[in-house]
Amino acid sequence: MTADIAEDTTIDGNDVLIVVDVQNDFCPGGALAVPRGDEVVPTINRLAARFLHVVLTQDWHPRGHFSFASTHAGTKPFDVIDAPYGPQVLWPDHCVQATPGADFHRGLQIPHAALILRKGMDRAIDSYSAFYENDRTTPTGLLGYLRERGLTRVFLAGLAFDFCVRYSAEDARREGFAVFVVEDACRSIDLGGSVAATRASFSALGVACVSALQTA
Ligand SMILES: [Zn+2]
Repeated sequence: MTADIAEDTTIDGNDVLIVVDVQNDFCPGGALAVPRGDEVVPTINRLAARFLHVVLTQDWHPRGHFSFASTHAGTKPFDVIDAPYGPQVLWPDHCVQATPGADFHRGLQIPHAALILRKGMDRAIDSYSAFYENDRTTPTGLLGYLRERGLTRVFLAGLAFDFCVRYSAEDARREGFAVFVVEDACRSIDLGGSVAATRASFSALGVACVSALQTA
C-alpha cells in the first residue's frame, strides 16, 4: 500500500468514485462469491458520501453467456479456454440479467450515484473492465461520460480487486486519468496468482493503492 499520500487524495469536484460490481452474486452466498466480498459495503457507503460524482458498475449477462462454464460442453468453472480475443476464464453462471444475483447488495446505499454502467451484455464477449470489453476494443461508453463531465481523477472500489477493479483501473490509467484504488474497499478472488499480478501491474502503470482513510 502506498503510504502517506493523503494530501493528494483530498476529494474534489473533478474526482469520480467508480464502485465496481457490488452485486449479490459476488458476495458470500452468491454464485461467484468473492471471499468476504460483503465487507466492502459499509466502507464503500462511507467513501461514496465524500464524492460528488459516483458511478456504479453492474455485471449484467444474458443467459448462456460465453463466460459461463455451463455454455461450453466438457468444461468446468475456472477452466481457461481460448476465446477469439484471447484466454478466457470460465465462471459459474452469475449476474444473469434481472435475477436477484445481479442486484446490488441491499446494503449498498449510494442514492446520489449518477450513472449505473452495465457491462457483459454481449453474449460472445466478457467484460471485466468498466471501459472496454475483453476484446480490448469495444468501448462501454464510460470513457466518454467521464470526459464530458470533466472528471480527471478516478477512484475505484468494489469486486473483485484482481479482476474487474484491476482491468478498470488499468484502462483508466492508460486513458490518462490519475487512478487510485481504494484497497480496503475491495476484496479479491486470487486465482492463480492474480493478486500479485495485479499489484505488479499497478506498480508498473502508476496506479496508486490507497486506504479509505487516506481519502478525505
Ligand atoms: Zn461476469
